[in-house]
Amino acid sequence: MTVGNMETAALFDAGKKGRGLRASRELRAGEVVFAEPSFSAVVFDSFATQVCHSCFRHQAKLHRCAQCKFAHYCDRTCQTACWDEHKKECGAIKKIGKAPNEHVRLAARVLWRIHKDTGIASDSQLISVDQLEDHVADLPEGDLKKLQTDVHNFQQYWSHGRKQHSADYISHIFGIIKCNGFTLSDQRGLQAVGVGLFPNLCLVNHDCWPNCTVVLNHGNQSALSSALHSQRRIEVRALEKIPEGEELTVSYVDFLDLSADRQKKLKEHFHFDCTCSHCSQHIKDDLMMAAAESKPSADKVKEVTDFSKECLEKIDKSRIQGDFHEVVKLCHECLGKQENVLADTHLYRLRVLSVASEVLSYMRSFSEAAGYARKMVEGYTKLYHPNNAQLGMAIMRAGVTHWHAGQIEAGHSLICKAYAILMVTHGPNHAMTRDLESMRTQTEVELKMFKQNEQEYHTMRDAALKKPVTSSS
Ligand SMILES: [Zn+2]
Ligand SMILES: [Zn+2]
Ligand SMILES: [Zn+2]
Ligand SMILES: [Zn+2]
Repeated sequence: MTVGNMETAALFDAGKKGRGLRASRELRAGEVVFAEPSFSAVVFDSFATQVCHSCFRHQAKLHRCAQCKFAHYCDRTCQTACWDEHKKECGAIKKIGKAPNEHVRLAARVLWRIHKDTGIASDSQLISVDQLEDHVADLPEGDLKKLQTDVHNFQQYWSHGRKQHSADYISHIFGIIKCNGFTLSDQRGLQAVGVGLFPNLCLVNHDCWPNCTVVLNHGNQSALSSALHSQRRIEVRALEKIPEGEELTVSYVDFLDLSADRQKKLKEHFHFDCTCSHCSQHIKDDLMMAAAESKPSADKVKEVTDFSKECLEKIDKSRIQGDFHEVVKLCHECLGKQENVLADTHLYRLRVLSVASEVLSYMRSFSEAAGYARKMVEGYTKLYHPNNAQLGMAIMRAGVTHWHAGQIEAGHSLICKAYAILMVTHGPNHAMTRDLESMRTQTEVELKMFKQNEQEYHTMRDAALKKPVTSSS
């Protein structure tokens, strides 16, 4: 059922995949195909006091809602912008004395909104929220139990005059959230801090090698009007030139997995069998499992692969325990064994390189971290779509690491590369793109200085690194 209109895309029957969206005209790389505010969204329980419930920015100091003492906001502007969404919730939390979990809170917000706007929040919304798929029938036993508990808690919490809903209808809403909810990250894209429902986005089908990407824009906090101030929205952006009539796709999973593993994840979380060209033709699987060019024996490759797998588990464990020296020790050992046995694009090698560069950079061993980051980026570049957002962010981190290591030429060049990718995937107004832009300018100045007087440059860098790290918000 079509209920709205969009200039760039239209609903169509995508065969086995069900509904889909396709381009109504040719789209340029980096073009915003559509932007959409959330129908409803909530901050995760674990971030309830650290992230603004209106704009989803991570903030050091938040103000608490005086009524329910649960919701937190940057300031009055964010609170005012969000009051319509929070009003009913505020009363319900006060009534039962405690906020229920994030699933129940989101389901309640969705239902309050449905009652207010009958499931259609804007003219360009193509589908009513309660017509999305729920896949409740596909849920395994354990998930079904949890769902029943949530439904029970929901019934204690939710009220709307004398209106009541059947347990089936409430389960339907929970199911919709479970398989269509989009995870929201903070303004630096570093942490998943909440979840929201975006009806049009739900119509964009998956492809492991998609032609679009989706990004959360947190709104413009320096805007004077409170409406713009915290108008968080997702943007679906074209990753490449898309001809008129072509289906629009985004990826629900990271590409860096063997096709069989991606298919397994998609089946488990989204209940479908991926038949995209990269899965059905196993494209790049060979690179992700490749042996080094020196042609080691099959036995040797198997031995090192098994060793790496075990080692990665140990690395994860030590990392969770915060034992970073152990992590570094394990990474060194593992990378040593992999040398001349596994190729630079092997998944296990890339995973170890990623952890090693991140942890060493955290421990301020920037030179060593930079070396690993560079190898990681080289491998990623051979595997990812050239405009993949994960690739862009990895290159950004590698650039910053090189910069901190005093390798200004490599640092500047990586930062420029990352900037070019994020201009497509995140757009010029996103907080991360703006960060990159200022880093690009700063590294350019430093590069000039470096070329004029290397000695002076290093003295300046060393002094800068001794200062505590500051970050803008
Ligand atoms: Zn805010
Ligand atoms: Zn409140
Ligand atoms: Zn109703
Ligand atoms: Zn696939």
